[in-house]
Amino acid sequence: MLRKIEHLGIAVANIEESLMMYETLLGTNCYKTESVESEGVKTAFLQVGESKIELLEASNPSSPIAKFLEKKGPGIHHIAFDVENIEAEIARLTSQGFELIHTTPKDGADNKLIAFLHPKSTGSILIELCQEKNS
Ligand code: ZN
Repeated sequence: MLRKIEHLGIAVANIEESLMMYETLLGTNCYKTESVESEGVKTAFLQVGESKIELLEASNPSSPIAKFLEKKGPGIHHIAFDVENIEAEIARLTSQGFELIHTTPKDGADNKLIAFLHPKSTGSILIELCQEKNS
């Protein structure tokens, strides 16, 4: 079951510069920064009520974020839904004909197990499923 929008992922060219703007805009400070080497990203999280904003900066030129910025420029990169049981959701969505980029959950930032759906099966929107670890 998808329970809520957990966060919006936003691709930025420079995380420090973007953080200054978002901290002022949202009136709150970043609560966590984290690098995910396997994805070639640096992340920074801000909490807004029940939801979060995840800023994403490429940590190397072959990062998916570097490619996204090259093609589309800075902007909304993905929508992440909180799920109760990520393996059950992967199985359900696969059986419904969705194409998963990750067919088994992998470690993501912010203490999550994650899996991405391929945008070609979701109307060009990159969708992330995430499950809090140990919940
Ligand atoms: Zn995300």
